[in-house]
Amino acid sequence: MGAAAGWLATHSTLTLGGLLSLWLGGLAAWTLLEWLLHRAMHLDTGIAVIARLQDSAHLRHHREPDDLEHSIIRLRNSLPITMLLFGILVLMLGQVDQALAVLCGLITGYLLYEGVHLSAHALRPLPGLRALRRLHLRHHFARNDLAFGVTSPVWDWIFGTYRAGSEPRPSGSGLRRA
Ligand SMILES: [Zn+2]
Ligand SMILES: [Zn+2]
Repeated sequence: MGAAAGWLATHSTLTLGGLLSLWLGGLAAWTLLEWLLHRAMHLDTGIAVIARLQDSAHLRHHREPDDLEHSIIRLRNSLPITMLLFGILVLMLGQVDQALAVLCGLITGYLLYEGVHLSAHALRPLPGLRALRRLHLRHHFARNDLAFGVTSPVWDWIFGTYRAGSEPRPSGSGLRRA
């Protein structure tokens, strides 16, 4: 992302305000993408190849929430998705610099997701993230048909998958020390 920001600073004809708006748009779009991807991981399609993909990309994390390796989206999965998104953005926006600015916002959202998600599984979550942690732990240990948003509950409110409740107490360790 640093290289993309450097390229934008030296090559883009967009104003700083324009770049910031596109970056913020990408950041907001991440919250929707996060909800959609997470929702898709829990869809039962009945197709074996999709079930295997869902399992390696996400459902294994539900079975083994303490396993750091399966808590983080792997580079081999995130890199092709990033390239695909960049291609779609170039086609949609028609300009490489605009597409890169939105992509930087999406990547920022993704990095925030990783931080919030790791904090949710830590015994001592980061200050200010307790509400998001409660929602994610409910998704894990009480209702995995609710709370697909990790960095934001906005799309859960909109799509009807938000329901507040007390923090569930997992029967196993379920949590990792920070
Ligand atoms: Zn899940
Ligand atoms: Zn999790």
